[in-house]
Amino acid sequence: MASSIEIPSIPLAGDVSIPQFGLGVFQVPPEETTENVLLAIEAGYRHIDTASAYGNEAQVGQAIHASGLDRSEFFVTTKCFNSDHGYDSATRALKTSLGQLELEHVDLYLIHWPVPSQDRYVETWQAFIDAQQAGLARAIGVSNFQPAHLRRIIDETGVTPAVNQIELHPYLQQAGLRREHADRGIVTEAWSPLAQGLVLDDPAIASIADAHGKSPAQVVLRWHIQLGIVVFPKSVTAERIRENIDIFDFELSAEELAQIEALDRGERTGPDPDEFTRP
Ligand code: NAD
Repeated sequence: MASSIEIPSIPLAGDVSIPQFGLGVFQVPPEETTENVLLAIEAGYRHIDTASAYGNEAQVGQAIHASGLDRSEFFVTTKCFNSDHGYDSATRALKTSLGQLELEHVDLYLIHWPVPSQDRYVETWQAFIDAQQAGLARAIGVSNFQPAHLRRIIDETGVTPAVNQIELHPYLQQAGLRREHADRGIVTEAWSPLAQGLVLDDPAIASIADAHGKSPAQVVLRWHIQLGIVVFPKSVTAERIRENIDIFDFELSAEELAQIEALDRGERTGPDPDEFTRP
């Protein structure tokens, strides 16, 4: 399962670093997940992004164990869902996830959504801080946090999240939130980096892809990498899994980056983080 592809890493707080590229398994049915993750590992992926809400943590863990590679080769992220906010619930949720994954620790544990209407995310964050100190998560972070939510957890606990995982792609570039992250030393992770495929028919992206002899998906993923963003596109087809990681042998020019920047239209494909409450 050796791979010759060198994936860049980004340092997080402490002595943890995160591979800038990985596999997302949202909407991958559990019965397909082990094979999906094993295919990706074979192609050189070592970073897997799952969540308790995806219902496939156990199968992610099975693939990691079946790979025969050392645990330290992997970077595994999972997330605490909306129904598990609050100190005790979040503490329990992490233990349940570790049981599902059959791992002693995760590399990154995230608050999946802030659910401001519950007003419990500060308490949840405190549980995360303690779990990290107990060695159950090497790094802790958040997802779908807006600037006000970030400010609040930092002000009230003194601990800055290592990452914020947000919807981000050429049609939703989140410049303001990315600036806030840069100012606070928070690494940006992009979810739906391909806008679930929506951006792949864009003529500007197609023409850049032609110029490099690459696919539109490779161009969009390369754009994220050059912006310093962490990505984990989802695919269950072997060919696309291999295609998506094959982005470290070409470079977009400043002009091409500017052409993609001009595509921003503030368009979400997923829920608004200020509103989303699904339990
Ligand atoms: P994505 O942008 O990665 O798009 C995935 C879809 O794009 C695939 O289903 C496929 O249809 C298409 N695709 C993938 N590779 C392709 C290729 N090479 N050519 C053509 N089409 C291709 O969307 P996603 O799965 O929503 O996001 C990626 C990951 O982000 C998820 O799996 C999950 O881990 C994470 N995520 C997190 C949140 C959150 O709230 N934190 C929300 C959504 C997703």
